[in-house]
Amino acid sequence: MSEAFIFTPPLRPSVAIEGELRRFPIRRIFCVALNYAAHAREMGKEPDHEPPFFFSKPADAFVPDGSVIPYPPQTQNLHHEIELVAAIGKGGSGIAAEQALDHVFGYAAGVDLTRRDLQAAARSQGRPWDLSKGFDHSAPMGAVRPAKLCGHPAKGRITLAVNGALRQDGDLADMIWGVPEIIASLSSYVALAPGDLIFTGTPSGVGALQPGDRAEGFVEGVGSISFAITPAAIS
Ligand code: MN
Repeated sequence: MSEAFIFTPPLRPSVAIEGELRRFPIRRIFCVALNYAAHAREMGKEPDHEPPFFFSKPADAFVPDGSVIPYPPQTQNLHHEIELVAAIGKGGSGIAAEQALDHVFGYAAGVDLTRRDLQAAARSQGRPWDLSKGFDHSAPMGAVRPAKLCGHPAKGRITLAVNGALRQDGDLADMIWGVPEIIASLSSYVALAPGDLIFTGTPSGVGALQPGDRAEGFVEGVGSISFAITPAAIS
């Protein structure tokens, strides 16, 4: 039997696991919007108690720790958002919050890169966020730390520095919806599956990255993520 595909299917994106030679295969990337009150306010939204609002990125938006990322096209305002990422190890739909943490394999530090100008335009026109959030290289993320090593962090410092200057400095305890509530809500819309990643929202202090910048993110007890933006071409 010859191959059934007209071209070789790309390898599934995957992320390193701390303390493991084996890797975590990425299935889908879901993200929660406006999950810290101070960030909601800096985006011009008063935090409410509506259920979480989700969007997604393609799995191949993932880039590993230490990457150099090209400044993306179609934006003049590329923003960083440091986030705790929950890595799903056991699938399910209609998961109760009380059981939700059983579905988490581990956690990582990730950055939800955002073309803020495209997002603002989409918002004002009532259009989807897709291309402002889900673009090439838009999901840098560090290694997954298994929950058996780090537990299920519900508090701890979450920071991002650009060129050594602290920009974002929050605490996981300030998340409006914790990981159990996020999983319960998301799994009421879609059946979660092993390999799904959930970016859980960012604290305040989001801001622009410029060509040549180096970003370093940190989630206490979980891990770190660092990356650089390709320097501007010299003309
Ligand atoms: Mn975000």
